[in-house]
Amino acid sequence: MIMEYRVGNGYDVHPLEEGLPFILGGVRIPFHKGSVAHSDGDVLIHALCDALLGALALGDIGKLFPENSDLYKGIDSRILLRESYKAVKEHGFSLCNADITVLLQEPKISPYEDKMRATLAKDLHVKEDRISIKATTTEKLGYVGRGDGVSVYASVLLQSVEQRD
Ligand code: MG
Repeated sequence: MIMEYRVGNGYDVHPLEEGLPFILGGVRIPFHKGSVAHSDGDVLIHALCDALLGALALGDIGKLFPENSDLYKGIDSRILLRESYKAVKEHGFSLCNADITVLLQEPKISPYEDKMRATLAKDLHVKEDRISIKATTTEKLGYVGRGDGVSVYASVLLQSVEQRD
């Protein structure tokens, strides 16, 4: 009996502009800037989707949900997450854990991290202790440091749901 494991990583960047809603990890964060995007701009969820899809070599969210399609304009990224995880399940895998790092100069997201973890855990049918969210600034260096953008790295480990001979 062999249990199969797969790792995946994802990375995404969005510009930040004045007056747009800032949604991260499925949670609306009060801030004077928000993500410029075709969807709701949830850069954390986009990186997480790419990690989930990447672990099984299923491409990326740009392939699954094309930006030139009006279908996905302004879409709640949680829908993309649930669809990506559905593809993972259909391939016989489930999530062991996800570890996510957000690069953002401001605002501080620590007050929202537990809510994000609960939101993602719900969509991925795991306990919150399987979802880690960490944040760092870039010490005011580069586009993140200037507050012009936000970037996110996500890693996941998947395991096969059924043991194989
Ligand atoms: Mg994106």
